[in-house]
Amino acid sequence: MATHTVSERSTKRIRFWERLYLPEIAKGLTLTFKQMIKPSYTRQYPEEKFEPEASYRGRPVLVQEEFGERCVACGLCSRVCPAIAIEVQAGETEKEKERYPEKFEINMLRCIFCGYCEEACPEEAIVMSRDYELVFNNFDDAIFGKDKLLMPVSQLQERLEYLRQYKG
Ligand code: SF4
Ligand code: SF4
Repeated sequence: MATHTVSERSTKRIRFWERLYLPEIAKGLTLTFKQMIKPSYTRQYPEEKFEPEASYRGRPVLVQEEFGERCVACGLCSRVCPAIAIEVQAGETEKEKERYPEKFEINMLRCIFCGYCEEACPEEAIVMSRDYELVFNNFDDAIFGKDKLLMPVSQLQERLEYLRQYKG
């Protein structure tokens, strides 16, 4: 006479219920009905803005200090950018900083908001902002120069603090 261990018997019982599919269907329907009676929520954008956390990766911006941009035009961000979206041309100054970006452009049609530029920058000079609203009327408008990229450091404090914790 064949004998079965406890684990063999329970395996057979599970397989039988699994073959029926009924418990799983009932579980799925219960979940669906629960969701159906929950109140739905729709954000009334653009009247009701989304306020992202400091960890959010919006468009990259250049940090502007009182003395000017932090960027020293080393070009590291441009090298790591997987979308080849950044173009930097260095200029020389008489100041202590010596180098600055004479030209700094990001093609926002190429940018994929990956944040590699931010990670690579040795000066914390380029960071991901909270700005997610981008509208272009033509290709030229999507090339952001320093006029659109520079953002006062006072507006980026939370992101810079987040980066220090994250990298620390
Ligand atoms: S966020 Fe990524 S894709 Fe966009 S500019 Fe920086 S490195 Fe390039
Ligand atoms: S933003 Fe940073 S990584 Fe890019 S060129 Fe300036 S200093 Fe170098």
